[in-house]
Amino acid sequence: MRAAVLHEIGQDKLDVLDDVEAVGFGPGKVRIRIRATGLCHSDLSAMSGVLPQPAPFVPGHEGAGEILEVGEGVSHVKAGDRVVVCWLPACGACPACKRGQTELCLAGFMNAGTPNFRRPGGDIFGMAGTGTFAEEVVLDASCAVPIPDDVPFDIAALIGCGVTTGLGAAINTADVQAGSSVAVIGCGGVGISAIQGARLQGAAEIVAVDPVPSRRESALKFGATKAVSPDELAGAKQQVTGGEGFDYVFEVVGRSTTARTAYDTTRRGGTMVVVGAGAMDDNLQLNMFELFFDEKRILPSMYGGGDVLRSYERTIGLWRAGRVDLAGLITHRVPLADINEAIDQMRTGTALRTCIEI
Ligand SMILES: [Zn+2]
Ligand SMILES: [Zn+2]
Repeated sequence: MRAAVLHEIGQDKLDVLDDVEAVGFGPGKVRIRIRATGLCHSDLSAMSGVLPQPAPFVPGHEGAGEILEVGEGVSHVKAGDRVVVCWLPACGACPACKRGQTELCLAGFMNAGTPNFRRPGGDIFGMAGTGTFAEEVVLDASCAVPIPDDVPFDIAALIGCGVTTGLGAAINTADVQAGSSVAVIGCGGVGISAIQGARLQGAAEIVAVDPVPSRRESALKFGATKAVSPDELAGAKQQVTGGEGFDYVFEVVGRSTTARTAYDTTRRGGTMVVVGAGAMDDNLQLNMFELFFDEKRILPSMYGGGDVLRSYERTIGLWRAGRVDLAGLITHRVPLADINEAIDQMRTGTALRTCIEI
């Protein structure tokens, strides 16, 4: 079958091959025919080495498709069911899962060191233990989350990562209060989802911050009340908050420089939410005086910062009611053969989300 492979960390192009096999099927596993997958910024970060990932690997962790086959002992899905691929499945038994913080369950990461694919050249890993830039994947059954028939595969794929992450940051982690002021730094698919989440929560002012003009235009369509370039953020802070700073600032880039800006742009006693996935050697510096004296809350948000399956269900409900625009996030569509085109679109910042149809 076909899959897009990165041979070595640091390469910037994927190799679309047709001699790849999904391996590991057996008890407790499912075989999924991927139908749509989104290109998430974390895929690029894994390719460049910013996020840890063994290679060679098939990127892609935001996917949806249908079940082809289920292994012994799998009862919650059957052949033909439509599913979202959940790259962070909950084991249900660890302390984090028992507390309802399934986004902190590490069980899924235990599989990340096991190859998901094979080809004549050798073993191949899957991004975050999944690898959805492939026609088929074999995954732990807990990674297959059934979705209702009315949710198209391209929409379902978005729910598998970017939308859940962005909406959850605003709704679960920050619990943005009605009437508050919000800034969102970084307005790709996740940032736009955070904007939609803040709007749903009733934020009065939502300032979108992004260097790319087309993204700023999109942000306004999705609920931002103002959109500025990074250079204009200090002015917007003055204008919108009288210089005090925003009640909530979302960092959706994953760099210490933008995190520092987010911290400085948050009002004293306000909340900075860290959504971007950054590198292990990129350190954020805060001095002990400001940390204490300004009483700003720093809230990291992993995968929406709440029970993952509940977040999926909530998103589907909001989408069905027309309260969030998910279709509008898909700005580009390409077949798997043109995956490198999609990667270029993401690097240049012209895409919110590119849907890869498989
Ligand atoms: Zn767990
Ligand atoms: Zn992602």
